[in-house]
Amino acid sequence: MSDKLKPCPFCGSEAVVKVDQEDHGFQIVGCDTPENMSMLCPSPMMAVYKNESGEYDYRNWNHRPIESALVEALKELLDAEWMVSHDWGGDRQAVIGKAKSALASAGEM
Ligand SMILES: [Zn+2]
Repeated sequence: MSDKLKPCPFCGSEAVVKVDQEDHGFQIVGCDTPENMSMLCPSPMMAVYKNESGEYDYRNWNHRPIESALVEALKELLDAEWMVSHDWGGDRQAVIGKAKSALASAGEM
């Protein structure tokens, strides 16, 4: 398992280097969906190239904009909830509004 690659964004399976063309400076990374689950995932793959330091740059594979937005929204929500629960100000309805907004941005509401 590579600790540099986030799991598959579709099914959560381990991501692996499927093709390593070291001589040509690229790899193909993708979902390592188990055979019996292959109908559950489109099995994405992506070419990854070396950066200026000569190391493979996995940022594009690891980029998860919706996850990042949800994590940020949850952090804000927890901060706001802490403020409300400790009577340090804040507005419970505003906290709930942030939660709904975060879910809506993820297409869940
Ligand atoms: Zn997958």
